[in-house]
Formats: sequence, C-alpha cells, structure tokens
Amino acid sequence: MNVIQYIMQNDFLSALMKLREWYQTGESRPVSFRLHLLKQFKKNILQAQDEIFDALNRDLKKNREESWITEIGLVLSEIKKFEKNLKRWSKPKQVDTNIINFPSSSFIYREPLGVVFIIAPWNYPFQLLMMPFVAAIATGNAVVLKPSEFAPATALVMKKIIHQTFQESQVLYIEGDGASIIPEMIKNFHFDLIFYTGSTVVGKKIYELAATQLTPVVLELGGKSPCIVQKDAHLKVAAKRIVMTKFSNAGQMCVAPDYILVENSIQEILLENMIFYIKEFFGENALENYHYGKIINEKQFDRLTSLLSSGEIVYGGQTIKEKLFIAPTLLKNISLDSQMMQEEIFGPILPVIPFHTKEEAMDIIKRNPNPLALYVFTSSKKDENFWIEHIPFGGGCINNAAWHLTNDALPFGGRGNSGISSYHGEFSFDVFTHKKSILKTPTWFDPKIKYPPFQGKLKWFKKLLS
Ligand code: NAD
Repeated sequence: MNVIQYIMQNDFLSALMKLREWYQTGESRPVSFRLHLLKQFKKNILQAQDEIFDALNRDLKKNREESWITEIGLVLSEIKKFEKNLKRWSKPKQVDTNIINFPSSSFIYREPLGVVFIIAPWNYPFQLLMMPFVAAIATGNAVVLKPSEFAPATALVMKKIIHQTFQESQVLYIEGDGASIIPEMIKNFHFDLIFYTGSTVVGKKIYELAATQLTPVVLELGGKSPCIVQKDAHLKVAAKRIVMTKFSNAGQMCVAPDYILVENSIQEILLENMIFYIKEFFGENALENYHYGKIINEKQFDRLTSLLSSGEIVYGGQTIKEKLFIAPTLLKNISLDSQMMQEEIFGPILPVIPFHTKEEAMDIIKRNPNPLALYVFTSSKKDENFWIEHIPFGGGCINNAAWHLTNDALPFGGRGNSGISSYHGEFSFDVFTHKKSILKTPTWFDPKIKYPPFQGKLKWFKKLLS
C-alpha cells in the first residue's frame, strides 16, 4: 500500500463517509435551511473580500476591479439568483398527463444528488470553484471541494471562508496534488456527481475514472476558440473588444479568443487597431501596468515562450522569467502545423491568420473541432447565422468576446472536446438535482381495458397512445 492509499483509507475515506451520513440525515432538505446557508456564505465572502482581492493579486496579479467582475461579483450574483428563485425551482412541478393515464396527474420532484465532488483549475481560482459550489449547496448536496494547487493564496482564503460557514460533515475542503489525490478518491468512494473544470487531457482521465463507478460527470474543458473578423465588421470596436478579452488575466482564460481568423484584405488594419488598443489599455510597458496580470508559474511560462517562435512577432514578444511576465503579443505568418495551432494557447499570445473564403476558415477551425467558444465580428445578419449554423461550438458572441458567460440566463459549457453539460443560474440547479418523475393515480376510476385479458383491445390501445 503506497502513502496515498494509506492516507485515503484512513483519513479521506472516513471524512467522505461522514459527508454521506450527514446527507442522509435529511437536514439539507428544507429550502429554509439551504437559504440560511447561502446567506451565511454570502456574508462571509463579503467579509473576506479584501483578503480575496489580495490573494488573487498574489496568485495572478489580478487587479481589484477585474477580480470583482470575473470572480467575486459573479459568485455573489449567482447566490442572489438562487436566493431569489430557489423556493420556486424546488417545488414539485405539475406537468401534462397523457390520455392513457387518465385520470392520473404527473409531477416532477427535485432532489439533491447526494455527495458531489467539485474540482477547479487555477485561472479563475475563486469563481470556478465557488460558482458550481453555490448551486451544489443550494440544492442540498454534501460537497467535496478541490481547488487548484497552483493558486495557493486564493485556496487558503477559500478554505477559511468554507470552514467559517460550513461543518466538515457538510463540506470537505481538500488540498494537495490533484494527480495523486483525485484518482484515489474517485476509485475508493462513490460520488453522485463529479463537476470538473480544467484541461481536456485531465478531463478525459476523470471521465474514465468516473465510468468505473458509473458516476455522472460535468466536464468544463478548454480548447482553441476561434475569433472570426470579417471585412464588414466595425474594425475599431472589434479590435477593442478582442484586445480587452484576450489580454485580461494575461490570456489565461478558457474562453479567450485563441486565434484570429481575419479576412485577408483587412489583416494589416486589424493588427494596427489591436496594437493601438494594447497600448491604450496596458501602456507601452505592460509589466508595470496595473491592469496586466502575470503567468501563473514557470511551467506555463516555459510552455508559452516556446510558442513564440511559431510565427512572426508583430507586437510584444518581451518576456521576463523572474517576473513571470509575457507582454501582450500579436503574431502573423503562422504555419497551421506549428505547435501554436495544435494546442490551446492559454496565455497572452494571439496569432492572426488570414482567410479568403468561408470554406478556408472552416477548414482551419475543423482542425480543432468543437471549441468552447466562437466569436464572429460582422455587420451581416446573414453571415452571423452562417457561422452559428455551420460550426459546432459551446457558446459564443457576435461582435463581442467572452461576455456570454456573464449572463446567467445563458447555459455555459462546451461540447465534445470542450466539455459535457453546462451550468450557471437555473442550468446549475438542473445539474445538481435529480428530476424524479411521479405519476399519481386515483383509485375511484379503474377501467377494465387496462387489465387482462387484452385480446381484442389492440384497436383501443392504438387510439389511446396515438
Ligand atoms: P488541470 O486539468 O491541470 O487541473 C485542474 C484540476 O485538476 C486541478 O484541481 C488539479 O489538481 C486537478 N488535476 C490535475 N491533474 C490531475 C490528474 N492527473 N488527475 C486528476 N486530477 C488532476 O487544468 P489547469 O491547468 O488548472 O486549467 C487550465 C485548463 O482548464 C485549460 O485547458 C482551460 O481552458 C480549462 N478551463 C476551462 C474552463 C471552463 O469553464 N470550460 C474554465 C477554466 C479553465
């Protein structure tokens, strides 16, 4: 037995069993109990706000405003959404009943799944762990939370908030090397759902492990999200919005435009406009700029700098390893077979690739199918529909980039390589509850047609079910 197996069997396993026991007490079933938890949770997040800001700054050099919009604010608005709607969403819903079941009535009851496991990455370390957690706890599940080990300052503050708000029998917060701990946990304990956000490579491993226990999964993965700029686009607005999104969090965003596909005739003017906005937003020296982040660690820094030779640097390209700094960088003349076009970039490097026809652009996109997002900049309604209809992708924007994920009325998630299922708002309520179907039949009406002998009744059955 190795060390991990030993720890698993002696510590984690008993902690996991306690979660199951607590869940089975039914304490989390009343909506009032869950609303109370949400209220406490919100209060403790607000109290720890400055610590969260500091931690995000230490881990990723995020500024306070960006941290609010992309991390704390999103989580608080998710809590608000649940506070407002939880009672209504949790009520059994009466639905239609077909003739053959007359005079029964039909209902969908919602119940929590049980013990769920939420695993998060490091790029939005607070939001990506806490957004699904809000729904998990609001729906009455017992939860295991696993933050990324690569954003340790944020992981520490989250641990404090969780321990302040919840009992360890309700929520178990675990830390450490995911590659060692997570597989052991999944192998040794039956979770009712695994909600994983992270890379496609690890997502496949999680899916495989979950399959051995027949545990359902939500996989929120990455991919290469294309950004198409047509010559009929409002170029200044396109450049401004692309630059703002792409270089936010130093490009370490799952829905960042990964590469630009631009109509050949406007490539140079688009590049000029993007350079203008890079300077406008992050100054001539982004290293010193309040709005510009850093790369998470040396491993990512080395991976990203090795991509810089994939094309001709049009702007940026400066790197400082000790500061984990890579300047906002634009490249052109990229070979489609280069490393840059084989993997998700996930950093502040933006390749620009010209195309002449839609078919040519589609062939490039098909090399990395099912991206998490797609962005189209155009003034043509017909063309926006063309791209939406012809490219399979998770979600996206027309004349914008990444903001779709901030609207909780839209389901957020990928497809194929970029993930399974989607969440946010009511979609998260769906993810963390089971829909239990109930048909309720009164006893006062009990027609003979429903019982044997059936001979001679076929014509009636055909009528009743058609
Ligand atoms: P990652 O897959 O390396 O790690 C994510 C989590 O998995 C961490 O908690 C880690 O401890 C754990 N983990 C790592 N290796 C493991 C293994 N072998 N077995 C089990 N667990 C393991 O991802 P990352 O580098 O932290 O994040 C970057 C990726 O996440 C990018 O691909 C990005 O696109 C994607 N992402 C997707 C979304 C989304 O919402 N779809 C959001 C953010 C990031």
